[in-house]
Amino acid sequence: MSETHINANDWGIVGHEHAINGLRRAILSDRVRHAYLFTGPEHIGKALLARRFAQTLLCTGGPDPNVAPQNPCNTCLSCRKVMHNNHPDVHYIARPLDRQFILIEQVRALQSDTSRKTLEGRRNVFIIDGMHEMNVQSANCLLKTLEEPEPDVVLLLTAPDPAQLLPTILSRVQQVPMNLLTTSQIKSALEQQWEVEPDEATLIAALAAGRMGWAVQAVKDEEMLENRKTQLETLARLPSLSTAQRFDIAQRLSTDSDKLHGILELWLLWWRDMLLAANNSLDLVVNVDMSSTIQKQAAKVGPVQSQRMVRAILGTLEALDQNVNARTALEVLMLDLPSVR
Ligand SMILES: [Zn+2]
Repeated sequence: MSETHINANDWGIVGHEHAINGLRRAILSDRVRHAYLFTGPEHIGKALLARRFAQTLLCTGGPDPNVAPQNPCNTCLSCRKVMHNNHPDVHYIARPLDRQFILIEQVRALQSDTSRKTLEGRRNVFIIDGMHEMNVQSANCLLKTLEEPEPDVVLLLTAPDPAQLLPTILSRVQQVPMNLLTTSQIKSALEQQWEVEPDEATLIAALAAGRMGWAVQAVKDEEMLENRKTQLETLARLPSLSTAQRFDIAQRLSTDSDKLHGILELWLLWWRDMLLAANNSLDLVVNVDMSSTIQKQAAKVGPVQSQRMVRAILGTLEALDQNVNARTALEVLMLDLPSVR
């Protein structure tokens, strides 16, 4: 069948036609590999695509119930079980929230599961979401399964960047790179499928920076945008505050280490906007709802100081990754902030 007859939306995924068509071709030609690696930034939809692929591989709603169709039917028992996370032949593995890495016990459990027969489906599918969160010891353990897989086993791995994985793992997987969507793709999907008002869709699509998963999360969780607004308002006030006031804020932010990374990413985006505005590229600004504030501040701060702040924030993010004391790192950043009166 030619690609023009294939509608990637049958997978219920916005965009990513190239990736979907590749997987579909593998099914059609009966050349499904034993292991795939889905790559792309956080919230781009790697786990969703892996899950839809698993669903399609196990769907019994096609013309021949014994053969995987090219699209999941979404109605057969198998499809519904995958969608409700209770299909006995689809196994989901991720780093436990309170741990730094995927545990070797999780890999061993996977290995004992791969050696048994499928319970209901044609294949035994294992989704390892966040392969980069597996340490070398566990990855080497998993390698055994990748080297000699049982015939019906399919491993679906996700990771932001293939460079984060061992070459021995990479050489045994089929890579499926996922590309960022355009802002207009996200905007129209939000309007048409999620019934978001045009103004809000414009803002969310700009902030999503190409990641549909992020956009959907922002639609579902109203607090996400409210928190962002509060953070940006604090951020906009910072250059006019005294050092003592800035240190108070640094102290307050440093106590919530879970949120700190996200907040600093917001700062980074803000100062990139300042840099763009200072270079007369206001049309490229991401925080569109704050563009007049950004424009005013950028006129006072200028491109050189804005550039310096972008670098300083990147440095702070790096320092935090290396477990530098958060309060100290933030205080240094506060001193780097230009003063605007
Ligand atoms: Zn189905």
